[in-house]
Amino acid sequence: MKEDYYEVLGISKNATAAEIKKAYRKKALQFHPDKNPGDSTAEEKFKKSAEAYEVLSDPDKKARYDQFGHAAFEGGAGGFGGGGMNMDDIFSQFGDIFGGAFGGGGFGGFGGGGGQRRVKGSNLRIRVSLTLEEVANGVEKKVKVKRKVQAEGVTYKTCTTCNGRGQVTKIQNTILGRMQTAAVCSTCGGSGQILDGKPGDADAQGLKVAEETVSINIPAGVEEGMQLKVPNKGNDAPGNGVPGDLLVAIETQEHSTLKREGDNLHYDLYISISDAVLGTSKEIDAVGGKVRIKLEPGIQSGKILRLRGKGITSLNGYGAGDILVHVNVWTPKELNKEQKEFFEKMQGNDNFEPKPEKSDKSFFEKVKDMFS
Ligand SMILES: [Zn+2]
Repeated sequence: MKEDYYEVLGISKNATAAEIKKAYRKKALQFHPDKNPGDSTAEEKFKKSAEAYEVLSDPDKKARYDQFGHAAFEGGAGGFGGGGMNMDDIFSQFGDIFGGAFGGGGFGGFGGGGGQRRVKGSNLRIRVSLTLEEVANGVEKKVKVKRKVQAEGVTYKTCTTCNGRGQVTKIQNTILGRMQTAAVCSTCGGSGQILDGKPGDADAQGLKVAEETVSINIPAGVEEGMQLKVPNKGNDAPGNGVPGDLLVAIETQEHSTLKREGDNLHYDLYISISDAVLGTSKEIDAVGGKVRIKLEPGIQSGKILRLRGKGITSLNGYGAGDILVHVNVWTPKELNKEQKEFFEKMQGNDNFEPKPEKSDKSFFEKVKDMFS
């Protein structure tokens, strides 16, 4: 029994397109294979979420699914036929879900006329580690990549098996008569060409490894585990094929004081009792430098100050998150005689008694606000 797509994403049947997208984004990050190496349950969930999103994000498919359930996609009606999606499909789907910087490219299959298949080179995978500053504003990274490229002096000739067509035709005698089927030529892999001559340092496909500096434009707002695609910077294909892609896995470094949550950043500020009573200004860490903030006299411990737009630039291009400064009043553990006398005098003083007002929301109410 196939699981309900809404249940897979943990959303209701009335979920909006934005909610569906958000739910999938969360699942994709949670079950991403890079985050769960060797965990087949996670991989299964990763694939299931992708499949559910593929259907529910498409108004047409969603309508069919809402009406007929999984039956809508059985029997070759343009669905998944139970086979599920492969990882390449899923990663190409990320282009849509994680912003335009991902995906793109997209060769594969047949290019040009004449039905000849353009063989695609294999993909390369690298990891790039980013600081919070780089994540917040986006960055251009130059990385050295060892790619297989066509060796100089390599020559090709037309494949004799398929005569350059890239396909072979088979005639089979069946009970229904003679049937003709076309298949990719196994000699040339569909390119229609085979290696004729090559220099000594090239491999059997006429390729050799070369180091190349590749510039990668990383948009602001990326998250750990995301994957970017740089088209055509993977390995070259032999003959007249197209190069594979360079797949870049994003890693993010922790910041010493700023903690990320979505596009917002949290900062814990500790102030003395005197600063809380009298008011002061403090420097806090922000992305790419310090920011000075003002604390009003009588500020409460637990107060959250919001620095709008000082967080991480959103991956979808809509503005930026905030920095949330959590104010913590530090209570001294030991006092000298004079200080002790002062506080003893104030103990029980009406002005020192807590009188929380409606505007002094409880911690739980604040957290609720922050996530809504
Ligand atoms: Zn061939």
